[in-house]
Amino acid sequence: MNAQEMYEKMKARLDKVVPDVELRIKAELAAQIVNLKQEKNAVILGHNYMEPALFYSIPDFTGDSLDLSRKAAQTDKDVIVFCGVRFMAETAKILNPSKTVLLPAEKAGCSLAASITADDVRALKAKFPGVPVVSYVNTYADVKAESDVCCTSSNAAAVVESLHAETVIFLPDEYLAKNVARETGKHIIFPALTPSPSPAGSGEQLEYQLIGWRGRCEVHEKFTVKDIEAVRAQFPDVVILSHPECSPEVVAASDFSGSTNAMIRYVQQTKAPHFLLLTECAMGDNIAAANPEKDMLRLCMVRCPHMNTITLEDTLNALKLNRYVIEIPEEIRLKAYRAVERMIQIG
Ligand code: SF4
Repeated sequence: MNAQEMYEKMKARLDKVVPDVELRIKAELAAQIVNLKQEKNAVILGHNYMEPALFYSIPDFTGDSLDLSRKAAQTDKDVIVFCGVRFMAETAKILNPSKTVLLPAEKAGCSLAASITADDVRALKAKFPGVPVVSYVNTYADVKAESDVCCTSSNAAAVVESLHAETVIFLPDEYLAKNVARETGKHIIFPALTPSPSPAGSGEQLEYQLIGWRGRCEVHEKFTVKDIEAVRAQFPDVVILSHPECSPEVVAASDFSGSTNAMIRYVQQTKAPHFLLLTECAMGDNIAAANPEKDMLRLCMVRCPHMNTITLEDTLNALKLNRYVIEIPEEIRLKAYRAVERMIQIG
C-alpha cells in the first residue's frame, strides 16, 4: 500500500476528527508500517484507547483486552505487535510462547498493574487459605501466575460467579471490585496484610464474600460525580457512560457502565442528542470517527499516560528494530496461562 492509498483510506474515516495536515504525515508512517507488517509476517493488535490515526490505519484487529486476548490466541503470524500497554502484550506472550511479541513503547505500563506484586498475592493467599483468586487482566504475568482465573471488565461478575465459591479474592482494582460486589450482591472487605491468624482457619464466621485490593486506574479514579453534575447542567439530555474502573458513586450517577466494547455497542445502538464517555478520551474520538451522526462530548483533562506513549513512529521502529521484545520465564508463563485460558473459556 502506498502513502496516497493509506491517506484516502484514513480520510474516509477520519475526515472530521484529524486535520488533513496531520493525516498526510500519519498516512505516510502507517503505509510504511503496513508494508513492513506484511514483510515480517506480523499481526498488529490495537486497543480501543489508541489515538484515532493509529486505531483506524494499521491494526488487523481492534477491541478491548478480552477481544484482543482472543485474537492473540488465534493468530498464526510469527510476530504480534501489541499497540496497547505492557500487561496486554504479556497476555499475548502467555498465549503464544513461540511467537515474537513486541510492545512499541518500553515504558507503556499501567497504574493498576503496578499496584500489586506476586508477593502481595502470596501473602493474601496465606491469610485466606483455600480462597480462590480472581485477577483482573490488568496485572503482570507473575501476578496472573498466582491467580486461579483472570477476568476483564466485561466478564468480571461472570468469572466471580463461575467459581461458585462463598468467598473470592478479587484483585487489584478497588473500584471494579466494589462494582462487582454490588452487581453480584457480595459484601467486600479490604484487608491489611499484617501477620494475623487466618480468619478462615480460625473458625469465625466470615461476613464478607469478596476480598479486594486498593489498586486504582489513574484515569478512571479521577472522574467525579461533580463532573457528571456539571455536564448534565450544561447538557440536560446527555447520556453518560462510565467504565467500571470508575468509583461506584460515578457508576451509579451514570446512565450506563460497561467495558470499552460494551460502551461502543451502547452508543451505536442508542439514540441520544449527546453522549459522554468517562474513560480514556481517545475512545470518544474513535467512536465519533465511526459514527459521525453521534455527538460525542469528551472530558479530555484526564489522559492515560501509558496508552498515549504508543505512537505510529514507535510502532514503525518496533517492526524495523524488533523491539521491545516481551519475555516471560516459562514457569511463570505456564501458571499464568492456566488463569488466562480459564478466563477465555468463560468468555
Ligand atoms: S487507562 Fe488505567 S487501566 Fe488502562 S492502562 Fe491506563 S492506567 Fe492502566
